[in-house]
Amino acid sequence: MANKFYITTPIYYVNDIPHIGHSYTTIAADALARFNRRLLGENQVWFLTGTDEHGQKIQRASDEAKLTPQEFVDKVMVKFKELWVKLDISYNDFIRTTEERHIKVVQKALEILYKSGDIYEDTYEGWYCTPCETFWPETQLVDHFCPDCHRPVERISEKNFFLKLGKYQQDLIKYIEEHKNFIRPDFRRNEVLSFLRLNKLEDLCISRPKERLSWGIPLTFSPGHVTYVWFDALINYMSAVGSFDEKNNYISKWWDNETEVVHLIGKDILRHHAVYWPIMLMALQQAGVKGVKLPDTIFAHGWWLNKDEKMSKSRGNVISPLFMADKFGVETYRYFLLRDLPFGLDGNFSEEAFIKRFNSDLANDLGNLVYRTLTMVEKYFQGVVPEFSSSGERVKEIAAKLAALPKEVENSLKAESDFNFVRALENIWEKINLANKYVEETKPWNLAKENKTEELKNFIRLLVEAIRKTGAEIAPFMPRTAGTINEELGSGTIKKGKPLFPRIEDQKPKK
Ligand SMILES: [Zn+2]
Repeated sequence: MANKFYITTPIYYVNDIPHIGHSYTTIAADALARFNRRLLGENQVWFLTGTDEHGQKIQRASDEAKLTPQEFVDKVMVKFKELWVKLDISYNDFIRTTEERHIKVVQKALEILYKSGDIYEDTYEGWYCTPCETFWPETQLVDHFCPDCHRPVERISEKNFFLKLGKYQQDLIKYIEEHKNFIRPDFRRNEVLSFLRLNKLEDLCISRPKERLSWGIPLTFSPGHVTYVWFDALINYMSAVGSFDEKNNYISKWWDNETEVVHLIGKDILRHHAVYWPIMLMALQQAGVKGVKLPDTIFAHGWWLNKDEKMSKSRGNVISPLFMADKFGVETYRYFLLRDLPFGLDGNFSEEAFIKRFNSDLANDLGNLVYRTLTMVEKYFQGVVPEFSSSGERVKEIAAKLAALPKEVENSLKAESDFNFVRALENIWEKINLANKYVEETKPWNLAKENKTEELKNFIRLLVEAIRKTGAEIAPFMPRTAGTINEELGSGTIKKGKPLFPRIEDQKPKK
């Protein structure tokens, strides 16, 4: 069993400012990091994010902005960091691929694989799409256009370096078959498996001639080349948490068998992570590098759409995470992203759905439970939380359900459960609603009127327990709200504040 947890987001490509998709992966990773810190211990979790700063698109974007590539990436990178502060992202490290620590590890990995023969030089001729930085096999072209961006492709012939993907194809298939959690969710795993079974992998071109692209990491064994941006980028997961020693072994606290290594990614970069990356690692193992293992889980999530369309700058339908967080609050934004869409699937983002969730789950269920409970502690017990005395069947039943909650949430947030945020939050809300129902059925105002003090004490005590337990469980999702609840509960004497989530009335969708 792993006793450490290492979670990563992709490093985000800085040719554009952050959008909802970036914030979705990062909030999900943050919730898992926070959850596992509580479960395993603060020092047993490492949460990495960062930025991907090399490649053609960045070279071009910096030209357009009349900046050097370095000036350009320095400027855009800040936008990501600012957003993560705003969204309470508790990352431990932020890696940039232009940093020395990263460049060294990439160059070493390339050297090792060149020496072992898994990287070799050859002449490449093929159809190349410049905007996508991709060579396409003739069979994948659509009427001589790029199958991805639909722009014209060029015939290019040049000397390059290649990674032997084909050599590891059968090993990778076997590995995926034997490791159920390696690629999640299951339908993505099947997608990768059938791709690998039906197609012969061509070796991957991992270099670019400097005359075509200079903004990259130079190959030490071929001064005329820089490395392909994806080879560069994928190594970040290792370069951020370790390095090669003089015997070319990889040394890291976060890449050993005691650590569960989890990569969260968007579905659009599954092939790079589930095919190129494991083969790069297998090739390093084959070259005799010790300390390298395959990640335990690569989880590909779906996309937030706008009216069933992918959000993109060109369509002009991008929703800004900053705008939503400013308008409705960071906590609500975090909650909505993880609650409204099953992790792994696509779904629509709409303000209407946002407000509906806010009013029902946050204002009505959670906010109301906290507010009414604390009001009753003030009204009936002058703000002092009473002790349990005796307890009836119903109290025992609810207490047992509350006690089971942490384990339920833990099970929902495991890799084999597909990091099921929706279910974890349902587990929590089930208890919140149970507590609210308990208020309705108990009618505390009658207990007070009839002077049933013992029953009233037990009733209030149980509600306070319900808030404490559910409040602790929502912390990974809504850290500030959990903090507020904790403060209001105080120790023995409550400090009631304003309602946590006042209903949004004036913005109800019109009929
Ligand atoms: Zn293209």
